[in-house]
Amino acid sequence: MKFSDLGLEPELLRAVAEKGYDVPTPIQQQAIPAVLAGRDVLAGAQTGTGKTAGFVLPLLQRLVAADGRTPRALVLTPTRELAAQIAENARVYGRYKRIRTQVIFGGVSEKPQITGLRGGCDLLIATPGRLLDLADQGELDLSRVQHFVLDEADRMLDMGFIHDLKRVMRMLPAARQNLMFSATYSDDIRDLAARFLRDPVAIEVAARNTTAERVEQVAFRVPKEMKRHLLVHLFDHGASGEGAWHQVLVFTRTKHGANRLVQQLEGAGIRSAAIHGNKSQGARVRALADFKSGDITALVATEVASRGLDIKELPQVVNYELPNVPEDYVHRIGRTARAGSTGRAVSLVSPDEAGLLRDIERTMRQSVPFLPTPKFEVVAPKPAPPVTRPNVSPDNRGAPTPRPAGRGGHPGSRSRRSGPSRRNRSAF
Ligand code: AMP
Repeated sequence: MKFSDLGLEPELLRAVAEKGYDVPTPIQQQAIPAVLAGRDVLAGAQTGTGKTAGFVLPLLQRLVAADGRTPRALVLTPTRELAAQIAENARVYGRYKRIRTQVIFGGVSEKPQITGLRGGCDLLIATPGRLLDLADQGELDLSRVQHFVLDEADRMLDMGFIHDLKRVMRMLPAARQNLMFSATYSDDIRDLAARFLRDPVAIEVAARNTTAERVEQVAFRVPKEMKRHLLVHLFDHGASGEGAWHQVLVFTRTKHGANRLVQQLEGAGIRSAAIHGNKSQGARVRALADFKSGDITALVATEVASRGLDIKELPQVVNYELPNVPEDYVHRIGRTARAGSTGRAVSLVSPDEAGLLRDIERTMRQSVPFLPTPKFEVVAPKPAPPVTRPNVSPDNRGAPTPRPAGRGGHPGSRSRRSGPSRRNRSAF
């Protein structure tokens, strides 16, 4: 099947061709004709399937051309990264059409967004919080919205947006087209779908774990306090003889953990940056740009921040800590092997995470094989500023493996004793 078989107009076909897409993905094949026909759609599809073009292309066609000042199509997404990504795609796909796309999300000044909206908007992409803020201030009129897209509905509910969502929906006209995308189907999602979709075309692109099947998944057993040392080893040598890693998205469970790991990787000479909810939008954009351009090797992210990250041909994803929710694992590893390519996900599993891995394997109906943990070096932390004792001379290289902090000895004794930064062999 070709894009030209889907009923799309020449302006859109031209933009798609220039973007380099040859054939529509399965979700695009099913969603585009349904949306063009004005049907409601319920689609089970996760990021990486091409779902964005699946709704953006037909919406651009249905909007025809710029008209009036207030939005006629609204796409609601859970995260700012995803919102920015969709808006970027809409601008690319709509480059030969006169459609005004605006994007609004929190964490940045609202002034430019207000100015943008005042200038006129046909397609609005938004996160719920900022949308409601601007609506409450009278800067946003949703009374002309004819097409409503709820993207990543499952994530929206997980993030506690249900009340915001209901408020937004009350602001929309009753007669409208509704599209809902969700990677997973819980009872809550089914309830939501039943409540607002009218006779939807149900689209399920392969099983939800299709991406997972294209990702080579491996795990290493490693004590928690040794994870960072093993990770440095993997950066230097690869996980199974493939050589040094060049572009790796590393997931931690907490923002604090992400910051700490960045410091530790930097200390080992691996250029890194963190991306999480406490970072300003500017810092996130910069980190992502540096990562995409290869200026940094490791992007350390929390689960929520990773949503919507679209990095072409990302070869490696590392679960530095396993997520508490199995679905998050599926989303995380979906960052690699996007749109048909393959990739690898490496999980560092400490003994206390064995139960989490079992839950993940049960959810995916797939086991994650353990590779033998390689011998790796334990990197001594950078020397502390000189204290009363002189530094230990570098020929003390055969010193025993430093004990992890917090386990005996007095805090800080390691760094003072270990002298210049160096790596000691460990038995792991
Ligand atoms: P999405 O699931 O919408 O986040 O898209 C995932 C990735 O697939 C993005 O990088 C898109 O640019 C890319 N993509 C979308 N549609 C196609 C297509 N028909 N052919 C090749 N790549 C595509």
